[in-house]
Amino acid sequence: MPEKPLLECANRWKSFWLFPVVFIFFVSALFSLIQLKQSIAILDKRHDTSVWTIFQLKIELQRFHDSLIIYEKDQSTLVELQERYDILWSRFPVILNSIDGERLSESNGSIEIVEQAFAEVKALEPIIFEELALNPALTSSIRSRIRPHLEAITILSLDNYLKHNDYLSRSDDRVTGLQEKLVWLMFGLILSGSLLLLMVLRENRFNLYQAEHDSLTGMPNRAYLRRVLSDRCGIGQPYALHLIDLNGFKDINDTLGHHAGDLVLQAVAKRLKDKIDNFFDCVTCRLGGDEFAIVQFDVMTKKQLNTLASQVVSVLTEEFDLGEHQCHIGASIGSSLYPDHGRDGSSLLSHADIAMYQAKVNAPESTHKLFSYQMLEQINRRQQLQRELRNAIHNGELHLEYQPIVCLKKNKTSSLEALLRWHHPIYNAISPLEVIDIAEQYGITEDLGHWLVSETASQIKSWKDSGIEPVPVSINISPSMYQMNLVEIINSALESNGLPQGLIWIEITEDTSLEIINEVQAMLPDLAAEGIKASLDDFGTGLSSLSHLRQLPINAVKIDRSFIGNLEQDKKSRDLVRHIINIGHDLGIKVVAEGIEDQYSNDFLFESQCDYAQGYYYSRPQKPEAIGNLLSGSVNNKT
Ligand code: C2E
Ligand code: MG
Ligand code: MG
Repeated sequence: MPEKPLLECANRWKSFWLFPVVFIFFVSALFSLIQLKQSIAILDKRHDTSVWTIFQLKIELQRFHDSLIIYEKDQSTLVELQERYDILWSRFPVILNSIDGERLSESNGSIEIVEQAFAEVKALEPIIFEELALNPALTSSIRSRIRPHLEAITILSLDNYLKHNDYLSRSDDRVTGLQEKLVWLMFGLILSGSLLLLMVLRENRFNLYQAEHDSLTGMPNRAYLRRVLSDRCGIGQPYALHLIDLNGFKDINDTLGHHAGDLVLQAVAKRLKDKIDNFFDCVTCRLGGDEFAIVQFDVMTKKQLNTLASQVVSVLTEEFDLGEHQCHIGASIGSSLYPDHGRDGSSLLSHADIAMYQAKVNAPESTHKLFSYQMLEQINRRQQLQRELRNAIHNGELHLEYQPIVCLKKNKTSSLEALLRWHHPIYNAISPLEVIDIAEQYGITEDLGHWLVSETASQIKSWKDSGIEPVPVSINISPSMYQMNLVEIINSALESNGLPQGLIWIEITEDTSLEIINEVQAMLPDLAAEGIKASLDDFGTGLSSLSHLRQLPINAVKIDRSFIGNLEQDKKSRDLVRHIINIGHDLGIKVVAEGIEDQYSNDFLFESQCDYAQGYYYSRPQKPEAIGNLLSGSVNNKT
């Protein structure tokens, strides 16, 4: 696939970038943490520093200053003022002789401010305790001496609190250095974090795109389709869903290889985009394999739906040029309509799928089918038949009818063909072709094959027991029966009924033998050795009838009834039949004509020296008792 290397390349680049970005992120984060811890340690130390005690000192100074004013106004006593002074005095040693004092001495000029204030407070002691009692007017001079210190300590406490003191902002190189580093680390963190975020977002978008798009064609995929369907069902406007299955795509894959198959799928996607997407209000998707889907919006009439479908057919049946090769494909299209055929995506999908399978029946011809509930009934019927067929075999619901094959020269029944019948309690007579088809599709052929052989053998025995000279009976073999050990099964069925070998023959249908020519070729000599004759049924309907005659060691060919039905009216059919008889005879093969319904055909075949005849002219397929009468000669060969 062409985009795979691109994807790998993108992934490699992603890994290439992801590693350094994550590395930067983690290293920055780690160093930031270390630096932050160191900074916090230093800042904590600074922050602890005397913030509280200086603030207390400032409060006491203020209180003392205020007490002086109160005292001046005669609203307090001298003793109260002296007590305030004592409290203020006691604050200073607490600061100066403690760890706070040490920390303050680290800060330029701080300790001096406190010491000067203390010296002033001490100097006021004689005034407070001796002179003030005699001269109360001294309070104003005390206040003016205190005020400068109060202001200085207020500033100091604020500086300390806000960490704007000299020490922190200028002198501590460690903090400044750490802050610088932190800035860089933060820058690294933000950059790598943003890059990571960007990568995660891109990855997310990419994943979302990938989850809803097909890597080979770039078209929206099944997940996208499901989303569109459920969105559209929510809107409630009528729309159509078309499912497209390519006809003949498998052959391209098988014969030209998968690369050619991929090229075809890409070319189909391009044609759908260019010639459908651009001209209709729709979305085209690839669901996988050779299945595509189109959601057509605002479909008001079936004509709109049919127009798009026929446009798809004409677009896809045009020749595809793959460079070295040119090839043709077709399309089987099944459509369903919202809301007529379903009110949710799942039912629309499954109904369009049913319609598509109906269209596929006509493949390789390109056909379009619109879903109808009748189709669903047919499917249900088929599923019911499939469920019941196995039981029907074992419960004796199946039976065989027999049709004589008459020797034209002797005008006598020379053998019989056993034909399968299933009378279903609900659906009445089921065509043997449908029974075989179901058995083949659901793997019931082996049971059916065993039943067919043993039923035929026991019927021959029962004719023999009633005194009728047995004639060989041909059974029709379906494709999967070639896997079975037919020689063994037929011989043991005859033997267990006490019958001689060679009383059961087989008929190989021409179109199935083409698909499994090797198996048939390998099996025929073993059958011949045991007296089991083989005829090639429906001759002329297959794709390579003549080559079959050459390749397969068969005893007889049965000319298909489509050639016999209009012998009287159609000279070409007469010529063809005559030639087939001659070719058969030239190859030493007997010729049986199927489907003789009238005297003219019978006479013509007799004159053309056809060996055997089978058809309603002689007898319809009949129940064993009627055939018994016919074989015993109690009734005429002809009906
Ligand atoms: P076939 O093997 O070619 O069988 C002949 C078919 O032609 C029979 O249809 C028979 O009823 C019909 N037929 C015979 N003479 C005339 C005639 O004069 N006019 C017309 N219109 N039809 C005539 P039937 O029984 O419906 O079987 C159809 C096909 O189903 C058979 O074609 C055979 O391919 C298949 N089939 C029947 N029974 C079995 C079976 O037990 N096993 C397998 N594998 N296939 C069977
Ligand atoms: Mg047959
Ligand atoms: Mg036939």
